[in-house]
Amino acid sequence: MTIKAFVIGHPINHSRSPLIHGTWLAERGIDGSYEAIDVAPAELPAFFERLRSGEFAGGNVTIPHKEAVFALCDSVDPLAKIIGAVNTLVVRDGKVHGTNTDYLGFLGNLDAGAPGWSDDLDEAIVLGAGGAARAVLVALRSRGVRQVHILNRTVANAAQLAAHIDGSFSAHGYEAFAELAPKAGLVVNTSSIGMHGTRFEGLDLARLPANALVTDIVYTPQVTPLLADARALDLRTVDGLGMLLHQAVPGFEAWFGTRPLVTPAMRARIEATLEH
Ligand code: NAP
Repeated sequence: MTIKAFVIGHPINHSRSPLIHGTWLAERGIDGSYEAIDVAPAELPAFFERLRSGEFAGGNVTIPHKEAVFALCDSVDPLAKIIGAVNTLVVRDGKVHGTNTDYLGFLGNLDAGAPGWSDDLDEAIVLGAGGAARAVLVALRSRGVRQVHILNRTVANAAQLAAHIDGSFSAHGYEAFAELAPKAGLVVNTSSIGMHGTRFEGLDLARLPANALVTDIVYTPQVTPLLADARALDLRTVDGLGMLLHQAVPGFEAWFGTRPLVTPAMRARIEATLEH
């Protein structure tokens, strides 16, 4: 019997998930499907009833449903609760389980792009304090990073995040970068700055240690101005496309029963669909 999975959102045509999962299904010759389904907010409860009927093994959830599905799931992973968003659903025995794989995607991307990055990592700087920052903070906490400084345009949002997640987090404005940078082994941009080539003003990356790693979870463009500036200073960099690919791995494994690989060929396929 064909195993079916999906991504739901509203609208849904921007999602790259069908290409990612479709490529893995084809590569492995699995009798499965992965379809994009436009589900309007008002239709979400009815869609969950369809899920409980066993039509699908599970699927992904994207904007605007990542918070709304909490109330509809039969169970939700504790880390997804801390992150405040569900992006993956797994259906078993008529019950829908919600989880969040973004933090695993972030870790998988850095493990692949900068092996050993978290060994002896003492201090990190996270730029941005929105939804994606939560997944990154959970990820950094899981690797035992001693101190994470959250820098954000609206400092109150950074402070709220620091208070919400258990861990050694402090909140600042972007002007604190100059003072904090010399001890930071990692800089992660989770803000939307960088999208379509927008850039941070006044972040002096030259103040970072020479072995610092700079990563951006924004992947449109793939090399954001932040990454370009870091490369110009010979700092190590990892781009954000891998996070998108690696976050898809646990879902595929849960639905189709085999763990897929993020290969250079897969990256190239998705890269071809991005702005440069
Ligand atoms: P979000 O919840 O809307 O948060 C947006 C963040 O960007 C906030 O910190 C906000 O600061 C800041 N920001 C927005 N406009 C700004 C501006 N003009 N100047 C300064 N700061 C600004 O968004 P999100 O869901 O966290 O997503 C953030 C980015 O991560 C998006 O580009 C998204 O595509 C990307 N992302 C990538 C992946 C991946 O797999 N690679 C996964 C998830 C998200 P304030 O608090 O001051 O408003």
